[in-house]
Amino acid sequence: MSSVIRIYNSSEIKSRTFDSFSTTLRNVFSVPVSVANVSLNLEDAFDGGRDQYNSTAILAKVLNTFDTRNNKTIVVVDVDLYIPVLTFVFGEAQLDGSAAVVSTHRLQNQYYGLPKNDRLMIERLEKEIVHELGHTYGMYHCRDYECVMKSSTYVEEIDLKRATPCPTCQEYLKQSIAGKNTA
Ligand SMILES: [Zn+2]
Ligand SMILES: [Zn+2]
Repeated sequence: MSSVIRIYNSSEIKSRTFDSFSTTLRNVFSVPVSVANVSLNLEDAFDGGRDQYNSTAILAKVLNTFDTRNNKTIVVVDVDLYIPVLTFVFGEAQLDGSAAVVSTHRLQNQYYGLPKNDRLMIERLEKEIVHELGHTYGMYHCRDYECVMKSSTYVEEIDLKRATPCPTCQEYLKQSIAGKNTA
């Protein structure tokens, strides 16, 4: 049973920003949320040839660095993430596991040559945090383009989503959490 969500902020974002996420997270996952600033050394995950960071290596680091028993641990970074089969990823999570990572790197308008928009970036980050945590709770991708569990390749697709699951995914989550509690 996972009783807490822990957010470890290893990005430039101010930690009080995460206070606004906590309400959403508590509503979706029905667990307490804690936020702490950390400084993660991501050197091991860096690929000089791609000039990017391997998100799977970062997940391994999260599992090695933090006590992830009885909680879901998500790390927020600002470096460009990839997995070998894809050009980039916004984040990665262990399906039905305890660790996840998201990056602000490609959530920022400046990355696309557009004017900086912190409010938009924060909205995108909130959705990606809920999405990756959803995977740690065993949730799969959804076809509803407004559902937070829809997989996004482009930021425009993130902008179309809500920060919460569709009723079907929310019900799946509820069953999944209830099943674990009685197991
Ligand atoms: Zn996903
Ligand atoms: Zn859905």
